[in-house]
Amino acid sequence: MQNNASFSQNLIPIVCLDIGGTLTKLTFATKKGFILNCETIEELKIITENEDYEIHFTSHPNSLDVLIQKLEQIGFIDDGKSNIQNFYITGGGSFKYYDQIQNYGNIIRINEFDALKFGFKLLDSIKYKNTYFTFNNDIENLQLTASIYPFILVNIGSGVSILKFDNEDQFARISGTSLGGGMFLGLSHLFTGINDFDELLRMTKQGSNAATDLLMNEVHLGFQSPSRNKNEKHVAVSMGKLKQNPNINQSDIVKSLLYMTTYNISQIAFLHSKLHNIERVFFSGHFIRNHEETLQCINEAFSYFSKLDQQNRHPYFIKHDGFIGSLGSFWNGIQKFMQNKQ
Ligand code: ADP
Repeated sequence: MQNNASFSQNLIPIVCLDIGGTLTKLTFATKKGFILNCETIEELKIITENEDYEIHFTSHPNSLDVLIQKLEQIGFIDDGKSNIQNFYITGGGSFKYYDQIQNYGNIIRINEFDALKFGFKLLDSIKYKNTYFTFNNDIENLQLTASIYPFILVNIGSGVSILKFDNEDQFARISGTSLGGGMFLGLSHLFTGINDFDELLRMTKQGSNAATDLLMNEVHLGFQSPSRNKNEKHVAVSMGKLKQNPNINQSDIVKSLLYMTTYNISQIAFLHSKLHNIERVFFSGHFIRNHEETLQCINEAFSYFSKLDQQNRHPYFIKHDGFIGSLGSFWNGIQKFMQNKQ
């Protein structure tokens, strides 16, 4: 644990919390080269004229105790005394621990969609290499030199929000669906008894949906559409084979649930891309976590619905996909902190 002297030398006294329906995303920064004594998920280096920072991201299921423990471990709280100046809090659950958290620092609340706006503004302005990518069996990094706007954002958290960004300041929530990461987690738990998201992700690597879902090439429609390929492996009926085959392997069911969730969201996303005539569609949110099976399913589904419409659109993904809102709120805070320091 750091003492106060090393704290002020190494940590920026700002913490951002994005508290959602399931997870708390914590974002904070250390000065360059400082070695943390806790595990973080990802890092982003911000190089400025005066000082360089490393922004750290970590998340955990919503829990005040775990949050305080983490803040202690990082060195923000030392012997009950907090070194935090400001908490920037965003997300649907931002009221959750308001009273308890304000004992440790001043609270500034940021609307969750504004937080996403700030996050994209930052990513667009810094034009980091390898921030955006497409996925077709493998990552293909995109070097976007021009502005990313306009685009549609499909944020898959516990539920799904679909936003349209016209430019860096103007955006609207245009749609959403309740069938998102929370549903995937809930149904997976119901079928397998497993609650651990990481374990479920591992199962999607082993599973195949061929035993559970009825696929296009298995459906006899009695006619052959000229645009339809007889060998298509896309899902025609989710869980369509469960009735005939009740003894199914758990991994296969979880894989099938992943297909069900991603196909449905991708179809809605494509329809909005068409409706608003915006080609670029980004997928973000902690449900994705840049997990290869999830990226592959979204790519297959989105590209499939696009092809059915004689278009050639593909989904885009983003590094730090579950932390865009948290990053945006944090960046807002750090800039104010720097201005006040000058
Ligand atoms: P919210 O802000 O609504 O909590 P998130 O973007 O944090 O949304 O995503 C929550 C979803 O992410 C969960 O419903 C689940 O599908 C997925 N997820 C990713 N990692 C975890 C985890 N460690 N524990 C639980 N759910 C997780």
